[in-house]
Amino acid sequence: MALDPGAEAAPEGPGWPAWLDVRALLEDGWRPTPFREFVIKIHSRCNLACTYCYMYEMADQSWRNQPRRMSAATIDTVAARIAEHVESNGLSRIEAILHGGEPLLAGRESLRHAVTALRSAVGPGVTVGASLQTNGILLNPEFLDLFAELEMRVSVSLDGDEEGHDRHRLTANGTGSYRRVVAGLEQLMKPRYRHLFSGLLSTVDLRNDPVATYESMLKFGPPAVDFLLPHGTWDSPPPGADEAAAPYGDWLIQIFDRWYRAPFRETRIRLFNEIIRMAFGRPSRTEAVGLSPAATAVVETNGAIEQVDTLKAAYEGATRTPLHVSRDSFDEALMLPSFAARQIGLRALSEQCKSCDLVRICGGGLYPHRYRASSGFANPSVYCRDLFRLISHIVTTVRRDVAALGKEGRRRTEDDGRKEGTA
Ligand code: SF4
Repeated sequence: MALDPGAEAAPEGPGWPAWLDVRALLEDGWRPTPFREFVIKIHSRCNLACTYCYMYEMADQSWRNQPRRMSAATIDTVAARIAEHVESNGLSRIEAILHGGEPLLAGRESLRHAVTALRSAVGPGVTVGASLQTNGILLNPEFLDLFAELEMRVSVSLDGDEEGHDRHRLTANGTGSYRRVVAGLEQLMKPRYRHLFSGLLSTVDLRNDPVATYESMLKFGPPAVDFLLPHGTWDSPPPGADEAAAPYGDWLIQIFDRWYRAPFRETRIRLFNEIIRMAFGRPSRTEAVGLSPAATAVVETNGAIEQVDTLKAAYEGATRTPLHVSRDSFDEALMLPSFAARQIGLRALSEQCKSCDLVRICGGGLYPHRYRASSGFANPSVYCRDLFRLISHIVTTVRRDVAALGKEGRRRTEDDGRKEGTA
């Protein structure tokens, strides 16, 4: 099918960007950025019942209609579509992230098939970096041997210490999962698998002590730690949100100060590293902050092409598009207003963000957090005050240190930003 920016018969959702004029953008010189990251929902269910999960506990309940596992035939079609996109855009490297639900529930053969089918479809001239995000409970030597064979990197969700983790990350019968996750992590930390460990992912809870949370994660030696703000919108604000204060900003600043002042770099913290990079004029490599084009597509378990799944926190159907891998290409997805809106930088932001001193670093924050039913996504983040406080603190701190240390300090601080990988 030829690219047709006017092809959609109906708006994709309430408010902005449902009627964003992609044809006018193209006439104005804008060109889409090809997808480089493909999130493949290999299994749609989970073996945990975390209280804050955007998949199962928030506005969108579409998982109920998904097949439990992506079929082998759908995997083959997804692989062929990704190969088509790689070829039409001349890409030499892409990232494939096997995701869920809990991806390990798909079983070893499905995981193996997904990675090998994709690598085979794109051919030997294209590198496919493969990784997965897991809750860690099912990690065992059989899975880890497979990941070593396929050179797959593994990121595990862990919310700090046992008390903090078990407040939210519960099994179906309501018991905490911490000890089982730690058992899985201990397998991953063994010398023969350690190189597969890409990092820990942690959702912020203001009730946890921030420094104790950070230090409890350090004992697993993660190469990187990602702190995620709990999902919320203007209609459904995050827990503890305060219009007159910045509790999440203050919480993260305590970790920043502990991390930044450590005598050696204990781990990377992607949010902080990205803000430091941008403070020195480099582009962001995460969708959480900055104005870089989002280049991620999601394929649901049934083969539907969707937007990033954190949008499920906004409203029922927020991730949906009219496209499916059985009939549509990823190039077509780039022409949808919903995807184009994630690639046009400042033009996608609210007037308040456009006039903000920190807009080039903040970028309005994570896209789902801007949502308000009456206006869509053309709003500042529901975390606006928190982001402003955190970014101001980091930028002021590193610039002051660079000024004090002179040239050598600038080189070292910029190196810290440069070394941050794609955790
Ligand atoms: S700090 Fe607030 S106003 Fe400034 S760019 Fe971020 S969300 Fe927008």
